[in-house]
Amino acid sequence: MDKESVAQQYEPVAEIGEGAYGKVYKARDLKNEGRFVALKRVRVQTEEEGMPLSTIREVAVLRQLEAFEHPNVVRLFDVCTVSRSDRETKLTLVFEHVDQDLTTYLEKAPDPGVPPETIKDMMYQLLQGLDFLHSHRVVHRDLKPQNILVTSGGQIKLADFGLARIYSFQMALTSVVVTLWYRAPEVLLQSSYATPVDLWSVGCIFAEMFRRRPLFRGNSDVDQLGKILDVVGVPSVEDWPQEVALPQSAFSPRPPQPIGELVPDMEELGKSLLLQFLAFNPSRRISAFAALTHPYFQSVDSDTKSVYAQPIGSNKPTLEERAA
Ligand code: ADP
Ligand code: MG
Repeated sequence: MDKESVAQQYEPVAEIGEGAYGKVYKARDLKNEGRFVALKRVRVQTEEEGMPLSTIREVAVLRQLEAFEHPNVVRLFDVCTVSRSDRETKLTLVFEHVDQDLTTYLEKAPDPGVPPETIKDMMYQLLQGLDFLHSHRVVHRDLKPQNILVTSGGQIKLADFGLARIYSFQMALTSVVVTLWYRAPEVLLQSSYATPVDLWSVGCIFAEMFRRRPLFRGNSDVDQLGKILDVVGVPSVEDWPQEVALPQSAFSPRPPQPIGELVPDMEELGKSLLLQFLAFNPSRRISAFAALTHPYFQSVDSDTKSVYAQPIGSNKPTLEERAA
């Protein structure tokens, strides 16, 4: 699709986000009864053969995931290549427009905050979306309230994932500071980047929904790590990642803080789950799949479970089948 046809189909209404990775606009989709969409523009480095293979792959994975229409993942309607020069290509990703993100939702929640049963329901949906991504080997890497969308009906939809390689190019072009508050310790230590990094973020978000303020508000990698260790304690050498620049011995010993002090309003089962999200060692951290069966979620509305919890690929084609 060229620049003119994108401009013809989508009529921008407002700018709704400007992150490190590009601008997001709310627009009307004139070819589809004027429904609202969110347009995300990202710049991609152009190589001799056009778009880098890594970009083509990432977009292909996003499209394949979309074929499943998972209820807890934002719909991707279209991907357009809008303009191109020798140096860069502009991609426009067209998503369904969702009323608000979790940051706005939490800010707007009237006192005394989001009801515990609503938090539980949203957490369940969040984990279902994440389990879906993980089962397709997609790590979100930047899970935070701004990247979690909430529909007016209270449905949770994950956004802003799957473009890590495109982003690393874009990052070099901007000076926007990326928040560290939801980063897993192994990411801060530059050790590994597997699915458990997202479950750490889930733990931070879970606590924040009760606290109504972020759990760890660091202002640099080391400061962030220090704030984490103040709460979870300095782990044993065995639980510290190997071959990282910062050794365990660089941090003065401290005991873990009682979890009840962080989230006094959380029920006991919630606290036990929270501790499993905040396991320092990623190999001891609970997975999204396991978390969904945690007793904390026993009381989740069966409607929520039956609507959202369809075994992945049960009656839909697998990625491999789609690709064939
Ligand atoms: P960035 O890479 O800049 O973080 P995001 O995809 O996270 O880009 O979008 C930035 C912001 O725009 C989000 O935090 C959210 O508030 C808003 N946003 C993103 N996608 C949508 C959407 N589909 N519907 C409504 N708002 C969105
Ligand atoms: Mg974002």
